[in-house]
Amino acid sequence: RIAYVNGRYVPHRDATVHVEDRGYQFADGVYEVCEVHAGKLVDEKRHLDRLDRSLRELRIDWPLSREALRVVLREVVQRNRVRDGLVYFQVTRGVAKRDHAFPKVPVRPSLVVTARSSDPQANDAAAEKGVAVVTCPDNRWSRVDIKTVGLLANVLARQAAVEAGAREAWFVDRDGYVTEGASSNAWIVTGDKVITRPADDNAILRGVTRTTIIDMLADHGLTLEERAFTVEEAQKAREAFMTAATAIVMPIVRIDGVEVGDGKPGPVALGLRRALHSTAELA
Ligand code: PLP
Repeated sequence: RIAYVNGRYVPHRDATVHVEDRGYQFADGVYEVCEVHAGKLVDEKRHLDRLDRSLRELRIDWPLSREALRVVLREVVQRNRVRDGLVYFQVTRGVAKRDHAFPKVPVRPSLVVTARSSDPQANDAAAEKGVAVVTCPDNRWSRVDIKTVGLLANVLARQAAVEAGAREAWFVDRDGYVTEGASSNAWIVTGDKVITRPADDNAILRGVTRTTIIDMLADHGLTLEERAFTVEEAQKAREAFMTAATAIVMPIVRIDGVEVGDGKPGPVALGLRRALHSTAELA
């Protein structure tokens, strides 16, 4: 395997950054995960637009131009012979003497890119069965709209989910409403309405897959309702599902041990899953 680290393509096992990198010390950095499908990047433009927003919000410079980054992403995908999988890219503020405030003399941001293959058949098999989620309090900071590498709350939530035999954790706010998953957006289906939490109030990350799914709904005869929903409403919904670049659309069949619908993946989630790659931009 090959990784890209600050201007060089290196064997994955030798791909390291400095101990004083601010990403390592402060989680002072942002990232993106873009799906690779049939050798193409899925919704790359939206991922780069979101990276740009994350960098701006944290006042981190682009490590290289957008066009140059696009070349590096493709190079890493190709050098790893990824046809179906993921490309991961991370930008941190850079290497500087440890001090919470930004370095007085600006340093070069660090850029790391890795890619790996996944087994589409295994993912489809999981989707045919559906997955379980468990809920936990949303104890993250208030800027979850930024895709930062500061993911400790997400890590603990996901570990709790795995220990409970579930695939994903759903965060729940103080008022009992689901915000999103530890690394996915959360959806339910009631009647012909497809419901997901609004992204405008910064209580969730604006998922790229979420945006693409929203664009698809009308063509599938479905109506979007952007509003928060409770765990109980989700448990009583016809369907529930999650979206992420890493999972596309994954049907959810159990929430905190309670079966959703008839306990099988629903037609809305499976239909959107099948259609996503024909709607998303592949480049
Ligand atoms: N919400 C969180 C907290 C995430 O970490 C992710 C992706 O990893 C998502 C939502 C889904 O975003 P996307 O569809 O862009 O992968």
